[in-house]
Amino acid sequence: MHKEIELISIGTELLSGRTLNSHAQTLGAALTKIGLRLSRDTTIPDGIETIQSAVREAFTRTDIVVVSGGLGPTVDDITRDALAGLFDCGIVTSSAALEALHCKCTERGRRVTSAAERQALIFEGAATLLNSVGAAPGQRMELPSGKVLFIVPGPPKEFAAILDDHIVPWLSDKFPEARPLEVRVLTTQGIGESDIVTRLEKENFQCPGLSVGFYPGVGKVEIRLTAPETETAALDAAENTLRELLHDHLSE
Ligand code: ATP
Ligand code: MG
Repeated sequence: MHKEIELISIGTELLSGRTLNSHAQTLGAALTKIGLRLSRDTTIPDGIETIQSAVREAFTRTDIVVVSGGLGPTVDDITRDALAGLFDCGIVTSSAALEALHCKCTERGRRVTSAAERQALIFEGAATLLNSVGAAPGQRMELPSGKVLFIVPGPPKEFAAILDDHIVPWLSDKFPEARPLEVRVLTTQGIGESDIVTRLEKENFQCPGLSVGFYPGVGKVEIRLTAPETETAALDAAENTLRELLHDHLSE
């Protein structure tokens, strides 16, 4: 199975400028920590065909896809219908989700409406990922091809809870050998990106096998070197060279 995972963020509001899409950051950080990689985030509006084609395409590139948003009981929540059509699968009530929903409503002295009960609907054969901070559960669907689709509610707190409680543990178990990349960070001050590049080019700085990123901020540039832990010696060498070449502008 690929260690690269794709996210599909569904919600018209994410594209209109009304809501900042925070799921890519949340998922990217969680995956980086366990040595996996978020390889793409596709943000799309609520639309049956748009959702279906985005999911179909993501599975041509990778084995694990996370879809979020549009799972609630309102008319604009169409993710469930879109996926049921795409995978030609039935929708059933998750008894675990229904029980959790009744418990939560009883605790709060609320009646369980049939609209609320729709939140306990899952795909036939999918595993219920109970939601500790909301009503609709997440789901894990194993497709006949062996590929895996996670379906997660949109609210950021619920997305994060299901990620921490279910998705990360499942992935850690699936990829026991995955290790986070080693990272070295240097911060320069008082020298612009293009002057840094000129210096490095002049000295023919190269770091094969490592990835290097330049992240300019106000008055500073952060340089990040990353590599698998097997490349520690190469990382040390590259970091030392950069420290020498930029010694008069390093801020730490
Ligand atoms: P609900 O049952 O609460 O309706 P849902 O799965 O249907 O959940 P949405 O209706 O798509 O999710 O979104 C619920 C809330 O979460 C909205 O306020 C939405 O803007 C927000 N949200 C959804 N996706 C994201 C995202 N990627 N980043 C930040 N906020 C998001
Ligand atoms: Mg909704």
